[in-house]
Order: sequence, then C-alpha cells, then structure tokens
Amino acid sequence: MDRPFPRPRKRFGQNFLHDAAVIERIAAALDVSPDSPVLEIGPGRGALTRALLERTDRVWAVEIDRDLAAHLREEFSGSGLSVIEQDVLQLDFDALGRKEHGRAVRWTVAGNLPYNISKPLALRLVESVRSIESAVLMFQREVARRLCAAPGGSDYGPLSVLPRAVYEIEPVMDVRPGAFRPRPDVVSTVTRWVVRADPPSVSELHRLRAVLGVAFANRRKTLKNNLSRALGTDEPLQRSGIDGSRRAQELTPEEFHALARYWVS
Ligand code: SAM
Repeated sequence: MDRPFPRPRKRFGQNFLHDAAVIERIAAALDVSPDSPVLEIGPGRGALTRALLERTDRVWAVEIDRDLAAHLREEFSGSGLSVIEQDVLQLDFDALGRKEHGRAVRWTVAGNLPYNISKPLALRLVESVRSIESAVLMFQREVARRLCAAPGGSDYGPLSVLPRAVYEIEPVMDVRPGAFRPRPDVVSTVTRWVVRADPPSVSELHRLRAVLGVAFANRRKTLKNNLSRALGTDEPLQRSGIDGSRRAQELTPEEFHALARYWVS
C-alpha cells in the first residue's frame, strides 16, 4: 500500500500499538476457537487485526474513523477482514451476528480501546451479553483496577459490580506507554472477560444499575441516607436485611444483587 496513514486523531483516542510481543500476548489471550466469530473494536492501523487473522479466517472490525476504515479495506483486501465503519457504541452485536451469519452468534471481542469510551463501552458489553462469548480488552490502568476491584477500597464502585454481574474479569498484563505510537500519558492494562454461565436477566441488570447509581451517589454517606434521599424510603435495605449504616463501598456484589431484588423505583 503506497498511501500513507492519516495522522493519528486525538479525538478518536488513536494510540497505535507497535510492540510485537504485546500484540502477540493480546491475540493469544483471546484464545480464538475455529467456530467463534471474532469482532475487533477500533482496529486502527491493523496491528492487532493482523495477529487475529493469523488465528482465524474471518475478522469483523468496527472502526469509527472513515480514513482508517478505507485504509484497512485496501490493506487487508482478500484477507477475510470485514470492516464496519461505525461508532461501536451504536453497534447492535446481535443484529450484526444475524446479518453476517444468518443466525444469532456469540462474538469473541478484541479491542485496544479509546479511553474516552471505556465506561459506555463496558455498559454496552453488559447489555449485549447474550451476543458475546468472551473479550480481551485494553483499558487505562485505573479503569482496569476499578473493573477488577474488591469491596472496601477506593477503586470499588459501580464499574466493579455491574460488568462482573455478567462477566468474570481478570487482568492479563500491564502495557507501558512506549508500546504505543504516539505514546499515551498513562499505563494500560489488558483484561480478559468471560461471560458467566447464568447471567442475570435484562430487567435484573436494569435494577442493579439503578441500585448502584443510588447507593454510590455519595460515597461518604450511609446507604440509608443515599436511599432515603433518592427513593424517599429505605425499604429495600430493611427487606434485604442489609445494615443501612454501612457505606456502598463495603457491600459485596451479592449484597447489591440482594438489594436489587427488593428495589422499588
Ligand atoms: N487497535 C489499534 C492498535 O492497537 O493499534 C488502534 C487502537 S487506538 C487506541 C483506538 C482505535 O479505536 C482507533 O483506531 C480509533 O479510531 C478507534 N475508535 C475510537 N472511537 C471509536 C468508536 N466509538 N467506535 C469504533 N472505533 C473507535
């Protein structure tokens, strides 16, 4: 390909991986099986895409940047790559599976993500859980710590509970800024997500999300205060037997699930 790549665009969070060992470890962590359709989020200049295409015949890649999408189509023409030029936050994973495969499929998702969409994307993956099998995703280290945090610490919050209601999430490795061009200001962490055997229903997840929003509204306030202020009652605490003098960051995920069962909104 003789056309040069467009300059990296900050607004799309473009920091491109160039460290071959890191790319290899991400692709290996994905553990692609021959029958799992692979979807890459934000392929950029195709560094990870190339490693994925060495492991499977077809990869679907969602890229928001029109110029990069055109570039990828040219560069990977005839290689089994389908480029979807779209904002991944608007992507319907289920509809894409049906369109491309003629039936519902469970995607294996890979992505070195633009950091400005980490949180909304994590929520999108929660909502799309029935169309996803597993994922290997790179986040800013602070976001990864929140995703993997245990109760009690300052990293523990809604992002530690909601995604893990449906996925087992574990850190795979940290990635230094020098592995990217241009260099980001922060360290990154690769995480592996595997869908749980029996994820909660959509309505349970909605209730859990509402609980977390209210319980963590003010971390210094007690649960009783936060609930009474938002709902005008602390009934869910009484019914689930959870002590209202505790603070949200002390509750285990199971206790949040119990609160969600008695949620009134
Ligand atoms: N995966 C490539 C790599 O590792 O070198 C690029 C990673 S770069 C951090 C993030 C990529 O996601 C960029 O290509 C960017 O254009 C794309 N992107 C940003 N926002 C997006 C969105 N909302 N939907 C889809 N792609 C997006």
